[in-house]
Amino acid sequence: MEIHEGGCLCGAVRFKTRGKLREIIFCHCSQCRKQTGLYYAATNVPNNDIDVEGADNITWYRSSAEAQRGFCRFCGSALFWKADALDYTSILAGTFKTPTRLESGYHIYCADKGDYYAIEDELPKFDQGRA
Ligand SMILES: [Zn+2]
Ligand SMILES: [Zn+2]
Repeated sequence: MEIHEGGCLCGAVRFKTRGKLREIIFCHCSQCRKQTGLYYAATNVPNNDIDVEGADNITWYRSSAEAQRGFCRFCGSALFWKADALDYTSILAGTFKTPTRLESGYHIYCADKGDYYAIEDELPKFDQGRA
């Protein structure tokens, strides 16, 4: 069983996942841009396959009618994105212990990206989301 571990900058929130993780999706939408300062890079895991230590230290911000974003209430590290209707939790790639063994997937909401950087890799790019 593949196990991945990670946590926030200060260590108040730690997690462990079980099973192979999805490829990283890079989201350039305005919400992700605001929250991270650049763009979101996240994998995801079924809710049943993640154990969180220090869950009380997560603040959940409802960023839309459908989803919430979890961050550490001490150090502010962005950690999770959770849609109410999905049984999955998205986890920010930067929170994982290295080497992460994660792989890159594709870019979404490229039309909304900041105007101060370019997306120059060879990965697929979508102007909006992708079903
Ligand atoms: Zn923290
Ligand atoms: Zn986004």
